[in-house]
Amino acid sequence: YPPDKIRNFSIIAHVDHGKSTLADRLLELTGTIKRGHGQPQYLDKLQVERERGITVKAQTATMFHKCNNNGSDINDVDKAAKFLLNLIDTPGHVDFSYEVSRSLAACQGALLVVDAAQGVQAQTVANFYLAFESNLAIIPVINKIDQPTADPDRVKAQLKSMFDLEPSDCLLTSAKTGLGLEQVLPSVIKRIPPPPGNSNSPLRMLLLDSYYDEYKGVICHVAVVDGVLRKGDKISSAATGHAYEVADVGIMHPELTPTGVLLTGQVGYIVSGMRSTKEARVGDTLHHNRFSVEPLPGFKPARHMVFSGLYPADGSDFDALNHAIERLTCNDASVSVTKESSSALGLGFRCGFLGLLHMDVFHQRLEQEYGAHVISTVPTVPYIFEYSDGSKAQVQNPAALPSNPKTELQLAGNLQYVGPVITLCSARRGQQLEYSFMDSQRAFMKYRLPLREIVVDFYNELKSITSGYASFDYEDSEYQESDLVKLDVLLNGQPVDAMATIVHKLKAQRVGRELVEKLKKFIDRQMFEITIQAAIGAKVIARETVSAMRKNVLAKCYGGDVTRKKKLLEKQKEGKKRMKRIGSVDIPQEAFHELLKVS
Ligand code: GDP
Ligand code: MG
Repeated sequence: YPPDKIRNFSIIAHVDHGKSTLADRLLELTGTIKRGHGQPQYLDKLQVERERGITVKAQTATMFHKCNNNGSDINDVDKAAKFLLNLIDTPGHVDFSYEVSRSLAACQGALLVVDAAQGVQAQTVANFYLAFESNLAIIPVINKIDQPTADPDRVKAQLKSMFDLEPSDCLLTSAKTGLGLEQVLPSVIKRIPPPPGNSNSPLRMLLLDSYYDEYKGVICHVAVVDGVLRKGDKISSAATGHAYEVADVGIMHPELTPTGVLLTGQVGYIVSGMRSTKEARVGDTLHHNRFSVEPLPGFKPARHMVFSGLYPADGSDFDALNHAIERLTCNDASVSVTKESSSALGLGFRCGFLGLLHMDVFHQRLEQEYGAHVISTVPTVPYIFEYSDGSKAQVQNPAALPSNPKTELQLAGNLQYVGPVITLCSARRGQQLEYSFMDSQRAFMKYRLPLREIVVDFYNELKSITSGYASFDYEDSEYQESDLVKLDVLLNGQPVDAMATIVHKLKAQRVGRELVEKLKKFIDRQMFEITIQAAIGAKVIARETVSAMRKNVLAKCYGGDVTRKKKLLEKQKEGKKRMKRIGSVDIPQEAFHELLKVS
């Protein structure tokens, strides 16, 4: 395969507009997977992806397609050239746009999929610009045209007015019924340029992604930009200088398929005896160790929007969690991890995430894929804290702060749909930056809001006040000064560092009140009285009490009913996994989770 017979493209879209379904259909069309292979969304391999119905990881698959050189499908197979196509399915949710931007680095083009009924949404805009800024050829695909409410002409007009994409360039498809799918690959071949690399230059490959396999060790996904890689080659990392021997090399077709060689422009995998996540650095350039090369540009480092502490739940240990986190960060390079300790929770980690959904997904993957039992603390956005001598520090853990920081934050959000949204944004201390119309029915707004106001519960509230009709996306903007206070939570007079939060001064009273009320619901009565307080510095602003249990309650309620007692004990054991004893009080994981919703 000379580079002119290779095309690398990704599928980008707003959540649910049909990326993964379209990817499935293309894999079927090329015979890469069997029709009706029994699992819809073939490339959504993770349990969390199947359960939540969302794509979290970008996935690559190689397909072969026969086509003549100008791209129109022909019947005369002899004259047809066989093309090698690498398809990368990407996540749509805003929290995973880091995955998208990494994937685009290996592509020369993108299918921009838009739902024919919903039209352009916030992440359509965000993803379009990611592709546009990477100079990719963009093929607009209006999907779901089988729906009764589909209005492709309106969507064409939106694409023209928002992105200057020509209506005549739009493909109309239904990934569900198969309508229009035959035009997709020929358009890819015709409209997306081949990879630009040079076969005769020394090898340069970009490390796109990695994961840990129990048997093979670290498996890296790579894009060969220049030169050729063969099994047995000796390669080095430009970042670390470490040398490796390539033990296996191949393509994802769609499972790992050894080929012994990867040519210029190809995307594939290598196994090279890397031991840990620290060696497989996403964005690194790998090259033959006999040549030194100019490293490829790599990727912008991920910007973390939310930080949270992760601690082993009672009954699991620190080493096991450490191991699980090491393995998982190999597959999710966008998480930052530092060790920390909490007086309430012991030894653990402070992790940085790209958003709350990302945090949730990471947590779920730790439990599902690595069997870890984790307590996560109230998440916080990053703050810059300025000391009285003028020096500054970024703070990722509220507990690390003295009581009265001055600080702040970030953000611009893209919103569609008006009315109550403006009210919502003002209530969250937002400032409107832009307000325009995409067409007669859809508006586009841009706001600057404190990050803390949106990471927590903004999306849910936005969806509920607009009956799901608004979509939003965000990117970070600069830090701004703000009047913030640290809010401590005290159990029986002892501050619980893992529950401290940072809030705006004007909201402190209300948030403190809600925090203690919420916490009270989660703490079971015990043999002694428990006081729950919220305080700013030494000043207690809210207080609740969980009264002591009367002694004979247990005896009475369990009576002679043995099965019921057994059931309860079992349930308690189950619950125990997720409990954390703080001082003498048991706190369930849900409590930590619920606390974050107070804002
Ligand atoms: P993604 O989030 O962009 O990957 O979207 P998915 O591929 O997961 O699709 C979201 C939902 O839309 C799924 O329930 C699909 O079955 C459905 N879907 C995808 N393509 C079509 C289509 O062409 N027509 C209809 N009616 N539904 C579709
Ligand atoms: Mg998907």
